[in-house]
Amino acid sequence: MKSRQKFRKGVILFSFFLFSAVFYYLSPVVIIRSTLNGVVNGSFIMFLLMFISALVLGRAYCGWACPGAGGQEAIFLARDKKVTKGDYIKWIIWIPWISSIVLLAISRGGYDKIDFFYETKYGFSIGDVSALIAYLCVLLFLIVLPAFIFGRRSFCHHLCWMAPFMILGRKIRNSFNWASLQLKAASNKCKHCHTCTQNCPMSLPVEMMVKANKMENTECILCGTCIDGCESNVIRFAFLNGAQQRH
Ligand code: SF4
Ligand code: SF4
Repeated sequence: MKSRQKFRKGVILFSFFLFSAVFYYLSPVVIIRSTLNGVVNGSFIMFLLMFISALVLGRAYCGWACPGAGGQEAIFLARDKKVTKGDYIKWIIWIPWISSIVLLAISRGGYDKIDFFYETKYGFSIGDVSALIAYLCVLLFLIVLPAFIFGRRSFCHHLCWMAPFMILGRKIRNSFNWASLQLKAASNKCKHCHTCTQNCPMSLPVEMMVKANKMENTECILCGTCIDGCESNVIRFAFLNGAQQRH
């Protein structure tokens, strides 16, 4: 494994070990309670930052920082099934969820204050038994079991309420065509060995993307696994706008 992938896996595993401490900052439920009380909480700010980061970095957060990523990629050792269907499911969850937050905020007349540490104890998420039970339920039912039942990064494909913020940020970036972190392929160098498709943690058809010279995919998390696994150095990271991507 190339040293960049060792570093990435180390970072997401470390992030996963911190998950119990930080999960209120990523919670889809605490943001509803804080909205009812007119408070802009930690998860509100984190979701906003994810959206902003995606305008330039796409879904790099998912590949390089998300606490949910480390646990899921560790499960690859035991269960390495590809996931190629069901990406739409997360939108069925996200649209009613975000709509209800917007409606709640409007109905109470907006937000009154900002409290990044809302409902945390000294900044830590698990401050009582109910928070511990919530954490264990998220870990077991949303991260671990789907990865075992459905396969690689099932949570990211099917359930994640954070991914749509970044997918939207990425779509906005694509419409404005400004420079951002992307994958670039030299398709003429491809030896069609299938390694990139085989290794992609998001189960994307990378070799076909290379062949079509179309590396943009909303499910790509810019993890660089395809880059580091390609012996022919076909794929690379590049900071490009849409026009440069196509040439
Ligand atoms: S790993 Fe490289 S050479 Fe092999 S199919 Fe993918 S892009 Fe082509
Ligand atoms: S296409 Fe490459 S960078 Fe994107 S998720 Fe797959 S392996 Fe990672």
